[in-house]
Amino acid sequence: MSDRARLEALLRESDGRSYPAYRALKGSWDLEAFTLVVDHVQGDPFAAPSRMRVLLNPEQARLPDPILSNESRRWGVAALMARTFARRAAEKSVSRGSERSGEIRMEDPGQLVLPQTAVVIFESGGVEARCTVGLPAKGRRVAGHNAVALLLRDLATVIHRTLVGRAFEDVELERCAAVNEDADAARAELERLGLVAFVADGAILPRESGDDDRPLTSSERVPFASPPTMRVDLTLPNAGGVRGMGVRAGVTLIAGGGFHGKSTLLRAVQDGVWNHAPGDGRELVVTRVDTQKVRAEDGRPVSKVDISPFIGDVPGGGSTRSFSTANASGSTSQAATIMETIEAGARAILIDEDTSATNLMMRDRRMQELVPGEGEPISPFLHHVRTLHDELGVSTVMVVGGSGEYLDVADAVVRMEGYRSRDVTEDARRIAESFPSTRLAEDHTPLGPPAPRRVDPASLDASRGRKTRHVRPLDARSLQFGRHTVDLGGLEQLRTPAQIRTAGLALALASETEAPLPVHELLEWIDSRIRRDGLDALDSRRPGTLAAIRPLDVAAVLNRLRSLRVV
Ligand code: ADP
Ligand code: MG
Repeated sequence: MSDRARLEALLRESDGRSYPAYRALKGSWDLEAFTLVVDHVQGDPFAAPSRMRVLLNPEQARLPDPILSNESRRWGVAALMARTFARRAAEKSVSRGSERSGEIRMEDPGQLVLPQTAVVIFESGGVEARCTVGLPAKGRRVAGHNAVALLLRDLATVIHRTLVGRAFEDVELERCAAVNEDADAARAELERLGLVAFVADGAILPRESGDDDRPLTSSERVPFASPPTMRVDLTLPNAGGVRGMGVRAGVTLIAGGGFHGKSTLLRAVQDGVWNHAPGDGRELVVTRVDTQKVRAEDGRPVSKVDISPFIGDVPGGGSTRSFSTANASGSTSQAATIMETIEAGARAILIDEDTSATNLMMRDRRMQELVPGEGEPISPFLHHVRTLHDELGVSTVMVVGGSGEYLDVADAVVRMEGYRSRDVTEDARRIAESFPSTRLAEDHTPLGPPAPRRVDPASLDASRGRKTRHVRPLDARSLQFGRHTVDLGGLEQLRTPAQIRTAGLALALASETEAPLPVHELLEWIDSRIRRDGLDALDSRRPGTLAAIRPLDVAAVLNRLRSLRVV
């Protein structure tokens, strides 16, 4: 008897039996067009749905050779498959009984194209896809005939329409492969060219709305055009010659009036650490991966961070060389994030005045008179931004509409005007000379590399109750980590729940380190595990719900854990 016939018989015979009869599904089923591997069977209809993998060998998947030739190309197509599967499955999912009976679910990567575990394409041309399925129940009993329809019909249909070469036009597969390969190639050029970011001419930066990541479709949208003086030409493997704006290492300001597109440009740059799907508009907006957006996050916890370059002794006599709080202010939170970001190895930081603590960014002459030197512990970012680049090698790209003091310290100034960019660096120099700053020089602790902090692995314990590890994203902006909820609202570069889950699992894994390691060594330890064993290193249950993150993201989540102890 074929596996298919056996599976069908098993399900039909189980109809009406108690739900645990489904346990017999566990294992591998050769269903001719693909192999279905049932890794975990839910214990009852109310439990988390059952975990399954779909395996296709190269003959079953029949993907055209050109899309297999390197990893970038394969991830580009894998994201297309995951996106399409997730959406088809959502359409296909019909209720086949009580609770989540009949639900087929895959993690949807949205606009992003990342290495992830929902769909993987191997060099050989084989495909592995992971999804969850709500096994049909009638009350608390097996709905066997419904299960046949679900697994052998609904699921099979979704697979035929999303995981095989003939599900897509060849040109579409090639486009996904090519766009992703070009984005990786463009990002790989940045370092050699001395750039933090590249924004291609023609890119569509604005989004449909604040909570919709798709490109703005309005006819009013203005495609990006680079200022001639900032132009860089790249040669990409598929698109060939591409022109755009190069954001150089150093201090770059994005100036301009309110509502002229400053924050939109900065947001595209911060998202440029990830690749985007064809049609997104930001396919060729690429940013160095070691770039971190930094903002004020009052209320966040801080553990023994040296913020003394930015903030001297605080009221109550506390030294800020090792500053801890369960409830940071706007300025202390942002100062801590800057220091932590340097500690974690960032080479560029992005700051938007919209989301910054004003007093950390700037203090003008009159305020210096009213609250002189010793009365104000804050030494603004303005004092440190040059040192940050010239001595620590960390570039800054900053949106400033309000404070002209930054003109003195900028290497380049871009002005956004009606969504069009202009290079106003020369104007800015002239203005800085004609209108010299009246600010008084102030003493401050010079900015240097932060003293290493060692992480106590016991403080990364993610257990809760009987579970040795309880890690899950609560929504797109927070993480349940053991007994704690971690607020990630300030981490704008973590884009998806899959990324949040991955960061949480990475920290849970790090609880296995034997001795307290300095933060950067801990990040390296995690990163090398993932590089060696893939994202599956993080969870032996092989979930399809993990996606690539950067060491900087792991550090950022680490620093927001309320349980974190550093020694
Ligand atoms: P700023 O930071 O300068 O105040 P924003 O970047 O927030 O301005 O942009 C203001 C509005 O303009 C937003 O609604 C944004 O979606 C829209 N916008 C930004 N760039 C463009 C563009 N290139 N074309 C059309 N609309 C845009
Ligand atoms: Mg803005």
